[in-house]
Amino acid sequence: MVALVDIGQLPPVGEVPDRMHAQVVRQDRFGDPRTAFQPEVVDVPDLGPDDVLIGVMAAGINFNNVWAARGVPIDVIAVRQKAGEPYDFHIGGSDTSGIVYAVGSAVEGISVGDEVVTHPGWWDPTDPAIAAGKDPMISPSAGIWGYNTNFGSFGQFCVAQSHQVMTKAPQLTWEEAAAPTLVGTTAYRMLFGWEGNTVGDGDVVLVWCGSGGLGTQAIQLTVAHGGRAVAVVSSDERGEFCKQLGAVGYVNRKDFDHWGVPPHWTDQEGQREWTAGCRAFGKAVWEQLGERRNPDIVFEHPGEATVPTSIFVCEPGGMVVICAGTTGYTAVADLRYHWTRQKRLQGSHGTNDEQALAYNQLVIDGEIDPCVGDVFSFDDIGEAHYQMESGVGAFGNRVALIGASEPGLGRN
Ligand code: NDP
Repeated sequence: MVALVDIGQLPPVGEVPDRMHAQVVRQDRFGDPRTAFQPEVVDVPDLGPDDVLIGVMAAGINFNNVWAARGVPIDVIAVRQKAGEPYDFHIGGSDTSGIVYAVGSAVEGISVGDEVVTHPGWWDPTDPAIAAGKDPMISPSAGIWGYNTNFGSFGQFCVAQSHQVMTKAPQLTWEEAAAPTLVGTTAYRMLFGWEGNTVGDGDVVLVWCGSGGLGTQAIQLTVAHGGRAVAVVSSDERGEFCKQLGAVGYVNRKDFDHWGVPPHWTDQEGQREWTAGCRAFGKAVWEQLGERRNPDIVFEHPGEATVPTSIFVCEPGGMVVICAGTTGYTAVADLRYHWTRQKRLQGSHGTNDEQALAYNQLVIDGEIDPCVGDVFSFDDIGEAHYQMESGVGAFGNRVALIGASEPGLGRN
């Protein structure tokens, strides 16, 4: 029997212990991530035929496990129990870098000892919608690994479906490799997954929260495909960071105050004021571009606070593509502008395998900086989520070390 090992190390490759350390969320501590996450020792999970067991060196921190820790907008444990899962806890974590320790009986092309990362698209391979040719991420069974599913990367071992497992970029450290894949693959699908409105040469992309997880990736992906990114940020310091990543300029959202649900269309005075706020914001974008040019694509995720403005400033025939509602879900579209200017409001979620592989190749080719901000210890995974929710700390992505003893290791 292989003994339980301490954090900061893993057993010899291929030797799987029965028990492991993990940061665990339980329903009776839903709330502040600093207390919702607690270290526990749990059983290493069994593998299904198509699963891969990965020894986790580092785990990326994402906003989804802020929501899981709070039990908002859904209780992920209750949802899984209703679907038949026995566990009364949640081990989250949707970004991994690590080493393959075991593979299921049907897995091909992945071997014990491979250094890998994971993408977060998860689905039931027997889902009839997938067999019928639907994008698997739109199929009824689709979810985000390490959020909708259990045994993500906040344990010493995680279980992923084999199609999620991708080669780790050899030039990256464990913490660099664990940082960008969830946000990067999501941004890739948003910018290149919706035919008719994909980023091409000279296209203008307005990137909300340019210095954040999704934002840093969206700026770089836009630039790598010949587009021009304008970032929206909350400080000049964040804006300058976005320019270093290739943005042509930035707008500080704190210079405006028309955010949130707009006044009803029958409130003429309120509408006048709100529209003036939108126009001023749009003008600020033009100033950054040096021409009166509206964004072809607006890269959205704040949601309630910003969607009405995003739709207003988007170029006719352009697209507002959205993957979250961080500030709330009641986003209002003024349909007069929406239909007459024939704009597209497109939801986007996660990634499929092709999009993830295309993104990962850009990382392997060195075209994308993973943008590691703060590196946390295993014990501080709750604190890392708290800082993310509070908007404090370094720009870019947060990572926690699990099997890696210190930062800077893992580069080949
Ligand atoms: P970040 O923390 O990096 O981004 C959130 C940013 O929101 C903050 O940094 C802040 O940037 C900005 N913000 C905060 N309040 C407001 C406001 N009132 N108006 C406008 N902007 C505001 O997180 P991520 O980029 O990793 O994730 C962002 C969202 O996207 C989360 O809700 C996450 O769950 C979701 N997501 C969804 C995915 C999917 O597949 N559907 C995948 C990845 C993420 P600043 O202060 O500079 O403006």
